[in-house]
Amino acid sequence: MLAGSRLPGSRDHRFTTDTCWLLGAGASLDAIGPNEEIGVRRCVPLTVDLMREIQPNIVKRLKRLHRRANVPLPATDIHEALTYKLGPCIDWLKALCNERNPTIANDAILCLQDLVRHIASEIKDDQVEATLAHGGSQGFIFCAENYLWLASSCFHTPRWSVITLNYDTVLDRAFEEIGLRDPRTSQYDSWRELVEAHFANKRMSPVKIGMYLKIHGSLDIYECLNPQCKLFRSPFNTRGNERVNVLKSGFFIESLASPDAAPHCTSCNRETVELILPPGHNNSQEETAFHDLVYGEAEQALGRADTWIVLGYSCPDYDVDVMNLMKGALKQKPPTPQPDRSIWVVAPDADSVAHRLTQHLQHYVGFVKSSFTEFVDQILQIKGIERPGLA
Ligand SMILES: [Zn+2]
Repeated sequence: MLAGSRLPGSRDHRFTTDTCWLLGAGASLDAIGPNEEIGVRRCVPLTVDLMREIQPNIVKRLKRLHRRANVPLPATDIHEALTYKLGPCIDWLKALCNERNPTIANDAILCLQDLVRHIASEIKDDQVEATLAHGGSQGFIFCAENYLWLASSCFHTPRWSVITLNYDTVLDRAFEEIGLRDPRTSQYDSWRELVEAHFANKRMSPVKIGMYLKIHGSLDIYECLNPQCKLFRSPFNTRGNERVNVLKSGFFIESLASPDAAPHCTSCNRETVELILPPGHNNSQEETAFHDLVYGEAEQALGRADTWIVLGYSCPDYDVDVMNLMKGALKQKPPTPQPDRSIWVVAPDADSVAHRLTQHLQHYVGFVKSSFTEFVDQILQIKGIERPGLA
């Protein structure tokens, strides 16, 4: 299962208080863990599965746009773009939203709206898997154990930071669950404060400790895609920093009841879409302001950390933004007197990812060939702790 020279978490390796996690899709896919009652399940779909269910009319319209547009698609065809380059594909659509030809621009906006609504409703639908029907008065139990472990570890190590590239809300929910033991984790509180302050046009006092950051958007942040609206492509959030009543389970269950529901724009009253902000260069001014804020905080968080753990992220060559983020942070010296920063990749194919990342960063990257579940098991085993049961 394991490779690389040492395992983070083991006795012969420092699993420091200044650790920063960088989570990719592999982390959310494997958030549930080896739950005996429900078996190993994915609570967030793979892009391949997301696109298998896509409505033929969305694909048809995307193909038509591809034939007529002057902006090159970052793939040989729409199928490849949707399955393997979803981020660049969304960026391509955003470029077309700014086309001078109004027919193309309008088609691009409608395609973008349908595509984002499709992705968001499929993920919202699937992440309900992270709650287990329990019966009785409580109704549901949250069972994304690996994310609960991470959230709980953050609670005990406030200097840890977690940067996620995922826009699902499964880890958010884990933080809320941990927050039932008042107070919530400082990382999650700081994230909600940051978002709230940004959308209220206020500045948050700089965070010097751990942060939770969602750098590619979040399914609980929305934006209006009506080009005639003054709030066109201006992200906003609906619930501010208020605490979610997880005992009522509305957080997930409301998305099960009506996965297609999104709030209406306060200006034009049209239905909004979830904020999915993949790396790209075609963001609106307001999207860019949000992107810059979150990326700036992420660079600080990485810069403060002496250990980076890249979990479930394949570091693809086209993710230039994330590579630049890491390169920028590498220039900062960690505050603790360590000889060098230690960087690890944790994934089933961690060896090839670490090789690629070493070349990009010009910095040695160690690797642990294991899934999120195996990794958490290993750490719990070293510490002599059993996985919490569901009773
Ligand atoms: Zn609007």
